[in-house]
Amino acid sequence: MCGRVSGGSPGACGDVDRSGYELYQMWPVCQDLPGRSYQGDPMKDNYDIIVVGAGPAGSIAAKTAAEKGLSVLLIEKRQEIGDPVRCAEGVSKLALKKHIEPDPRWICADMKGSRIFSPDGTSIQMAEEIAGGEVGYVLERKIFDRALAYESAKAGAEVMVKTRATGLIIENGSVCGIKAMHLGEEYDIRSKIVIGADGMESKVGRWAGIDTSLKPSDMETCVQYLMSGVNIDQEYCQFYVGKKIAPCGYIWIFPKGGNMANVGIGILGSESGEKRAVDYLNEFVKEKLPEASIIEIDYGGVPVSGTVERTIANGLMLIGDAARQSDPVTGGGIINAMEAGEIAGEVAYNAILANDVSTRSLQEYEDRWRATIGKAIDNGLIVKDTFVKFTDEDLNSLAHSLKGVNFNKMSLIDLLYALFKANKKLLWDLRVLFKNVVKNELDM
Ligand code: FAD
Repeated sequence: MCGRVSGGSPGACGDVDRSGYELYQMWPVCQDLPGRSYQGDPMKDNYDIIVVGAGPAGSIAAKTAAEKGLSVLLIEKRQEIGDPVRCAEGVSKLALKKHIEPDPRWICADMKGSRIFSPDGTSIQMAEEIAGGEVGYVLERKIFDRALAYESAKAGAEVMVKTRATGLIIENGSVCGIKAMHLGEEYDIRSKIVIGADGMESKVGRWAGIDTSLKPSDMETCVQYLMSGVNIDQEYCQFYVGKKIAPCGYIWIFPKGGNMANVGIGILGSESGEKRAVDYLNEFVKEKLPEASIIEIDYGGVPVSGTVERTIANGLMLIGDAARQSDPVTGGGIINAMEAGEIAGEVAYNAILANDVSTRSLQEYEDRWRATIGKAIDNGLIVKDTFVKFTDEDLNSLAHSLKGVNFNKMSLIDLLYALFKANKKLLWDLRVLFKNVVKNELDM
């Protein structure tokens, strides 16, 4: 089976012009998972690790731990991993390749960069090195998430779909398993460690006494249409900012091959009142894409709160959206989820080897993710808190000051200098970020 990947992605086969949606239709739904995946037999009742949620975070954690020889159960409440999609599906190529070899079956478009449109229509073009994580590939997550789960099963993890965690087994102050519901039956399944990878609406953290609650101003409310008949440059993602079109958020158009695209909006939950995210999106679509048709609608939320106070308890780690590890500026969370999943899988192995699954031992997970993705999230939060205060005039003035700047040849620090030179007020608002970036560059 093969499909076209625009832009000549690695492994792209043939000239067949297929959109990601068509590729999804072609994916063999009943593809057998290798390893010891669930085949209708009663499940075991004891594992080294149980991972709750088969998104990118959970599948990578399960794969990492299983590769090290641990017995791993990965459960997913949905009957089809990856469906429904709640994602614009943009990822950075470099970061992705660290975790999985790109496969044309789940790559819809190969991005060169992105274009950002300010409220008065001024456009700034950014190459991917500057634009960061949201350009690279546009994925087909319905296939991508399955491919990741497949990798975890190949590594030896047991995968069970239609299996929902309904609670934790906690004994002597330590998590030692889950309560689960599978096909109407209730089960107690024990493990040395539980990894909560249950996404934005996570309950696992709360069950363990970790506060992961989000205020409306801590989350973006999103709506996305998969649309056909969208005639845009297939090599550029587009972003539209402005208080009038997407208050404290943005609208995106991510090409998906053929003439398909993800067209979506995220606005701060606190901005959603009488006029909802979907109303803003409809206005945009009516004006900019009057010829396009809606093929699919997805609703979802993205945490933009920055990091939570702790992501571990005795016998438990939280990863990905469940740990609020997405980027507060863009809402992108796939790569951070995979990074955290890998660290959690490794730390779980070390802890089990040391026969100590207490927070003292799992602190390694907390320290490692905060030292890596945590730093970027902290910087992102500073940018987000500044961005939400911008008026449309501020955004226009920023765009004007950056027009004509050659981003291809710029480091992040050069970009910040260019911005500050033209917008003195920014220097004050972003002074902590500036200090952090300079420090990081000096440390390298
Ligand atoms: P998820 O992918 O949410 O996976 C969690 C899984 O846990 C789900 O499959 C769920 O069914 C399962 N689950 C939940 N509860 C239970 C339970 N009790 N028992 C068993 N299973 C359970 N990120 C990007 O990087 N790029 C983008 O372009 C992008 N666009 C986005 C657009 C929208 C509209 C939204 C809403 C999000 C977007 N994101 C994007 C964010 C991205 O989708 C998430 O950050 C990412 O999916 C997080 O991965 P995860 O594995 O932590 O959680």
